[in-house]
Amino acid sequence: MHSDYSDGSFSPVEIMQKCKDRGVEVVSLTDHENVNGILEAKEAGDKLGIRVIPGIELSSDFQGGEHHLLGYFVDPSNQKLKEFLEIWKASKITQIKEIIGNLQKFGFEVSLEQVINSAKGSLDRYHIVRAMFPDHEKSAEAKEEHSRFFKKFLMEKSHGGEGLAFVERKKPDIQSAVNVIHDAGGMAFWAHPFWKIRDESVIRGLAKIFDRIGIDGVEVLYPYHSKEQAALLHKIARDFSLYESSGSDFHRKDDSVRQIAGFQDFGIEINFPFYLEEGGNT
Ligand SMILES: [Zn+2]
Repeated sequence: MHSDYSDGSFSPVEIMQKCKDRGVEVVSLTDHENVNGILEAKEAGDKLGIRVIPGIELSSDFQGGEHHLLGYFVDPSNQKLKEFLEIWKASKITQIKEIIGNLQKFGFEVSLEQVINSAKGSLDRYHIVRAMFPDHEKSAEAKEEHSRFFKKFLMEKSHGGEGLAFVERKKPDIQSAVNVIHDAGGMAFWAHPFWKIRDESVIRGLAKIFDRIGIDGVEVLYPYHSKEQAALLHKIARDFSLYESSGSDFHRKDDSVRQIAGFQDFGIEINFPFYLEEGGNT
C-alpha cells in the first residue's frame, strides 16, 4: 500500500484506519523509494491493534525491463538503505527536471521547487500533477481532467499514455536492489509479476533468474491476477522455495481495482513468513 509519502493520496494514519474498518490485521506500508511513513503507520497500527510490517517498493532494471521489488521487514533507519535511496532520488530529480523542461515547451508553468515542495517522501511524476493542480482530487471533474493530463503528457507509451513530455529515468539493476533490501534486514519479494508481462513461460524464466539473484518471495495474490496467474505463481513459489505475499497496491479511493485487501485468494493459502520479527530475526 502506498501513502502520501509516495504516490498515494492518504496519510499512513488514514490508511491504518481504513485497514481497521476493512478488518485487516497484518499490513505493510510499501511506499515507493522511501521509508518516511513507516513510523507513523506503526504508531497508528499499534493504537488500532494492527501489526505493521515495515516495507518499501523499489523499481529496478533487468536487461532493460522494469521490475518492482517489495522489501518487507526492512529497517527504515539502515544506513545503506538511506544511501541507496539518496542516490536514486537524484536520478528522479534529473528525470523530473527534464519532464518540466518538456512541459514548459507545451506552455505549462511549473518549477522543480514547486514539485519538490508537493512531495513528502519520494518524488515522482505524480507530484508534478500535485504541484500544477493542487485541487486535483477535489472533484470528479478535476480528477478526470488531471488523469487525462497525466496520460497525455506524463504516462509512457508502454503504459497506454501518449507520453508527450515523458522522459525515462535510470533505475538500479535488480541485483543491487535485492542486495540493499537484504542489507537493511529485509526480504525481497517480486511484486506483481504479471504487471507488464503476460507470457507464463517468460514469468517462469524470470523467476528462475530472480531466484538465483536472491529474491526471497513472490507476490502471488494481487488485484489484477487471474486465478490461473495466481495458481502459476503459487506453483513457482513452491518450485523455487520462495515465500509468498498478497498485495493490494492501494493508492487512492477512486481506483476501481486496487483497493485495501482487494485481491481474490482463489483458495490459495500463501506462505508468508508472518513469524518474522523486524530485522529478519525469528
Ligand atoms: Zn509496483
